[in-house]
Amino acid sequence: MLVVGGGLVGLTAALLLRHHGLDVTLLEKRERTSAQPKARRLHMRSLEVFREIGLAATVREAARELADHDHMATGRTLAESAQLPLWQPPGGAGETVEVSPELPCLIAQDVLEPVLRDAALAAGADVRFGVEVVGIKQDEDGVFADLGEHGQLLASHAIAADGARSPIREALGITRSGRGAVGEPLVSVYFSADLDDVVRGREFNLCTIEHPDAPGVLVSIGGVRWVFMAGGPVDRDWPRVLRTALGIPAPDLEVHSVLPWQPEMLVADRFGDGRVFLAGDAAHVMPPFAASGANTGIADVHNLAWKLAAAIGGQSGPGLLASYDAERRPAGWFAAEQSTMRADDPGGTGPGHAHPYVLAAGGFQYREGALVGDGVVEPVDDFVPTGRAGTRIPHLWLDDGRSRSTLDESGPGWALAVAGDPDGWTRPELLAYRLVADFLPAGQALLVRPDDIVAWRGDPGDALKVMRRLMSLEQM
Ligand SMILES: Cc1cc2nc3c(=O)[nH]c(=O)nc-3n(C[C@H](O)[C@H](O)[C@H](O)COP(=O)(O)OP(=O)(O)OC[C@H]3O[C@@H](n4cnc5c(N)ncnc54)[C@H](O)[C@@H]3O)c2cc1C
Repeated sequence: MLVVGGGLVGLTAALLLRHHGLDVTLLEKRERTSAQPKARRLHMRSLEVFREIGLAATVREAARELADHDHMATGRTLAESAQLPLWQPPGGAGETVEVSPELPCLIAQDVLEPVLRDAALAAGADVRFGVEVVGIKQDEDGVFADLGEHGQLLASHAIAADGARSPIREALGITRSGRGAVGEPLVSVYFSADLDDVVRGREFNLCTIEHPDAPGVLVSIGGVRWVFMAGGPVDRDWPRVLRTALGIPAPDLEVHSVLPWQPEMLVADRFGDGRVFLAGDAAHVMPPFAASGANTGIADVHNLAWKLAAAIGGQSGPGLLASYDAERRPAGWFAAEQSTMRADDPGGTGPGHAHPYVLAAGGFQYREGALVGDGVVEPVDDFVPTGRAGTRIPHLWLDDGRSRSTLDESGPGWALAVAGDPDGWTRPELLAYRLVADFLPAGQALLVRPDDIVAWRGDPGDALKVMRRLMSLEQM
């Protein structure tokens, strides 16, 4: 397997492919992981993916600098700012449903990527930085990557996690649709300054600065590192603007980079071509205001890795790999549209806005793909998981010690959740476990895919047959 791109989606892909026992080579043209902090919020669902591969605790440890930064804050300047009350989920979801075995966390992309790269190396992936893929071809035998002065590489399949501009997507002639630019261009100014004395006791995730000469949003990155996000021209006296926004002299302030960028909403019209699959920003870009870009990319490769393992291992028909597009393209559209709504109407809760947990806890429902649905579409404006086909299995603790979740039973294999006594469900292909819950009537079973998605719901006696049918899908 070849992964092109060593951003956080490519690195997660390498980890998941190793988890499924595949040989993987990852090629990244940069010499180092990202120098920009960019994404910071990892949703619960992404932590669940890292939990599956035994990495959630390591990620959380790396995220400890931002562990107390849950609050939003606002003020004329940072020095005059105050924390806002902590966000509460709308409706009853937070109180009545345990959403996930994992909490979300804030971790800057430039802190996360080295953690993922080290884990991928430790897992046995061949991770090569400083190697650019300059061309790609494919035929019925595999994918041939031209690495310029580094020679060639032959792989059975490739994942293009090569970012928003995705040279591979362009080379394959895959077009994109969507709104394009959303709102005005922004500037992210990455700087360091020791702000301990002014921040202590009012730690924040984002602090909105209302000063008329320096309006913008101050973003906590960890320690002495900060980003100031503002509209307007790129070419300004940034140290002066930043000191105005901070409201203190900050004598040690140092600007590291000034990055102009345009929030965009674009989704690829195909998520694959033959043996090559698009993932992450190569497949979809969206404004960052729902913190969904990286999280959606992680969900892409979680969906794809087990399907590639089944295809390469000769256990599946061609339809299983085709289900990647059928499932993840609508999911990409959903995340991109929701992110755009939040760009147009920050904090809005109007019609069409998904419940935050639907975005954060994998509540998006696949309507078609490697599943047998019952035609019932789950609402998105509430989060009431019922274990319907196409949704992630609801989380429940399976032990009194609250250490084993329903989500822990699937991945890398399939699982069967049986309401009542699972005696007799010890076949090697399916791992059975006891599950008695409101969402699963006695005598019924949930067939759960390796990516925690409920594939089917019905009589336990039919589960193995359904699983084999889905694995051997001829076409989508
Ligand atoms: C200001 C900002 C804030 C954000 N906040 C969040 C957030 O809170 N939560 C969230 O989920 N998302 C957020 N995002 C989005 C997030 O940063 C992106 O979705 C994420 O970086 C995408 O990861 P990726 O691996 O798909 O692409 P990238 O990170 O762009 O990685 C692609 C990699 O491919 C490499 N590459 C390209 N071409 C080749 C080639 N030919 N050969 C070899 N290598 C190649 C590139 O060098 C690059 O390293 C934010 C984005 C911005 C700009």
